Formats: sequence, C-alpha cells, structure tokens
Amino acid sequence: MTHAIAHYVQGAAFAGSSTRHQPVTNPATGAVSAQVSLANVADVNAAVASAHAAFPAWADTSPLRRARIMFKFLELLNANKDKLAHMITAEHGKVFTDAQGEVTRGIEIVEFATGVPQLLKGDYTEQVSTGIDNWTMRQPLGVVAGITPFNFPVMVPMWMFPVAIATGNTFVLKPSPLDPSPSLFIAELLKQAGLPDGVFNVVQGDKEAVDALLVHPDVKAISFVGSTPIANYIYETGAHHGKRVQALGGAKNHMVVMPDADIDQAVDALIGAAYGSAGERCMAISVAVLVGDVAERLMPKLIERTKTLKVLNGTNLAAEMGPIVTDVAHKRITGYIEQGVKEGARLLVDGRNFDGAAAGEGCTNGFWMGGTLFDNVTPDMRIYKEEIFGPVLSCLRVAGLAQAVDLINAHEFGNGVSCFTRDGNVAREFARHIQVGMVGI
Ligand code: NAD
Repeated sequence: MTHAIAHYVQGAAFAGSSTRHQPVTNPATGAVSAQVSLANVADVNAAVASAHAAFPAWADTSPLRRARIMFKFLELLNANKDKLAHMITAEHGKVFTDAQGEVTRGIEIVEFATGVPQLLKGDYTEQVSTGIDNWTMRQPLGVVAGITPFNFPVMVPMWMFPVAIATGNTFVLKPSPLDPSPSLFIAELLKQAGLPDGVFNVVQGDKEAVDALLVHPDVKAISFVGSTPIANYIYETGAHHGKRVQALGGAKNHMVVMPDADIDQAVDALIGAAYGSAGERCMAISVAVLVGDVAERLMPKLIERTKTLKVLNGTNLAAEMGPIVTDVAHKRITGYIEQGVKEGARLLVDGRNFDGAAAGEGCTNGFWMGGTLFDNVTPDMRIYKEEIFGPVLSCLRVAGLAQAVDLINAHEFGNGVSCFTRDGNVAREFARHIQVGMVGI
C-alpha cells in the first residue's frame, strides 16, 4: 500500500494543485513505498507566500526567543534520532548506523544555531571620523530557499535551515524527491518546538519547483548542494535573478598512502571511505594514490577486505554497505565499471557480480552491487576524471609525494583529500601544497 507525500506550508501539510508525482522506492527491496508530489509553480508560490508573510514578525522576534525554539527543536531531534535514521535507511538505503551518524552531524548544526544571540553580535568602532561612530548589524534577508541532494536528506538541509531561521530568515526547503519523508517530519518537529507557522516550509519536487524558486522575486537567497552541472545552473540562474547564491557541487576525493603508512589503518579507512554509504557521499574516497612500493603491501589486504565487505540490507546492524539509491544510479555505476574495463584498468574486484538475494530477505529486486576495485588506473581514464558516485575505488600508482600532489592538484574536483603517513615533514609538505578544500592527515 503506498501513501502520498506532499508539501508543508503555513504550519500544516499542503496537498497543492500539481497532479505530477513520482514513486518513492525502498532501494533495498525495490518496493514502491509512496508517491511524492512534484510541485507546480502555484505550489511553490504558496510556500513562498507563506514564508514571506511570516517574515516581518519572525525577523522582529528577539534572537533569544528564536534560540529557545532551537533548544526545544534540539531536544525533539535527540528524542527522535532513530526515527529519522530509519526514514533515511528506508528511502536512501544507507545502513542504519550510518543514518544515525548523519542525523548526529545535522544535530551539531542545530547546536551551533542555539548560540545565535552571541553569533549575531555586531562590531562597534568609536570615532571612525571626528564625531562619527560606526557599527555593524547582522540582519535577516527575508525568504531564503534550500535545494538539497538525495544523499543526505537530513544533514544537508540542516546545514542550511537551522542557521537561516535562527538568524531571523524564513525558509522554503526543496528536498530531493528520492527521499522526501524526513523533510516533513522535520517540519512537524519544528512546529512542536514552537516555530511560528510559515517560518519553515517544504515543497517537494523537481526542476519545475526549483525553477519557480530561482525566479521568484521574494526569494532573496538560495543555498544549493548537489551535482556540479546543476550547481552551475542554480548559481547562474539565481544570480541572474538578483539572488545571493551558494552552490556546492560534485566531488572526487583522493587518499594518498605513503610507504611509511600504517597499512592496516589505511586499508580500514579506504574501505569505510570508499564503500560506506555505497560511495554516495560527497566526501567518499574514490581514488587511492599509492606511493612508491606501498601497493605491494596494501593491495592484498585491500582486495581481501573489498571481497568480504558485508553488503546487507541497511536495517541489518551488521551491514557495512547498503544498496544503490535507484535503478538509474545502479545502471550509471555499472556503465562506469564497463568503461573502466574498456579503457584498460585492471578490475580486481567486480561489484556487478553481487546477487541481491545475499543482502537479506526480500532484497532480490533491490538495487544491489558489491564493492568494485580497480588497479592501474591512469589520469586519462573516464573512471578517474568523472564523479561515479558509487562503490567504485580506483587505485593509481605514483613514484613520490610530489607526483601525488601534482596529480591531485590537476584534477577538476577538489572537495576533500587525505594523506596517510607517519612522517611529520611529509604531513607538513602535503598540507602546504595540496589545493583541496578539506585536508585530512
Ligand atoms: P542533483 O544535482 O541531481 O540534485 C540536487 C537537487 O537539485 C535535488 O533537489 C534535485 O531535485 C534538483 N535538481 C535535479 N536536477 C535539476 C535540474 N535539471 N534543474 C533544477 N534542479 C534540479 O544531485 P543528487 O544526485 O541529488 O546528489 C548527488 C550529488 O550531490 C553528487 O554530485 C554529490 O557529490 C553532490 N553533493 C555535494 C556535496 C558537497 O558538499 N559539495 C554534498 C552532498 C552531495
């Protein structure tokens, strides 16, 4: 039996007038659990109107009172952590413990937002010119919108709305239609926490809903997280319509393993970072850069661990990896594996051989694959250059640290990177010369 998932406007569920919808699927079983509405322009306009009407009173509410609502929300989130995690596993597929971790990361942002009375303090400069003092005030913008990806249906929205609303803005969230349920539950928790109606709204949908937000004159700022082509589109279109836009795109993250690294620790980290959440993380490690002779010692252990990865229904607490989010994503990833073979990479472990029946009862029709491991990958191959966003790890070999750094700095993507070494000088040189946003050593 499927149910309908729609929007949340003016403090209540909102059906909207759109007749378009798409199925929501449990990736572990392939079963359709719900139909999610895809908002039309009128539905989006209703959500923006609700946020617009709520703005003046909310902006006038003292930061201390807004913070109290955040504290109450925090309490409710902590009490409902596992319920949210179960929702994530049922629609995204990631293993339950990973989903719990996602909720915890989101909660950390709400904790930060409770500090808003302090965070909103401005500066004061006396006598910038004779008889003139100067001070800064932090004021809310108005209605702001968040457009979020499927891979973190709780954490990524929580990067955005807790701080936005704590600082006095009102919010419209457009989550991914692949895993829409957590957004509505979050809206209910905010209401229970005492958030006035209209301050937080949700529109489910696809490009039509996004486009309506991008051109709406009452939307003052847009925050986007998703793939690079869409991030570019959001940035350009939003900026063209006079909005402040932050747009985070795709990734391809490298892990450098130096010859002096602790091999067991590096293998552990590679397994977790490459195959955790089925590689559907913007911070997943999808490339291992093996320096000098380290490959000889690391590869046998990595192959063994990849082959014995516990690929199970995410509800099973023993699971290390769950299914792929959709059949479409599954086909894209298997296409990349075929491409890697064609381009001459050495396929050491082939995840395409995985049979869903082995993942647990009822999983035969789910979107399953095992971990895939390629060796002898070269920088000109598509499996190296493009974001696969699946459980595929490519190994490249280089002679030294300088070559590793040059290789990584030349890549189009640069979200995160890490280096496994026990040498302080290598660590320092790596941190100084690597041109990637987040660096782990
Ligand atoms: P996506 O780009 O397909 O979708 C993101 C959002 O944009 C969704 O809400 C979707 O409905 C909407 N959208 C999709 N197509 C659109 C279009 N043509 N016009 C307007 N809106 C559109 O991304 P996804 O598959 O949901 O998520 C995975 C991607 O997100 C990966 O590329 C991953 O690296 C990236 N990501 C990045 C970060 C980061 O911090 N940089 C974090 C998480 C995910």
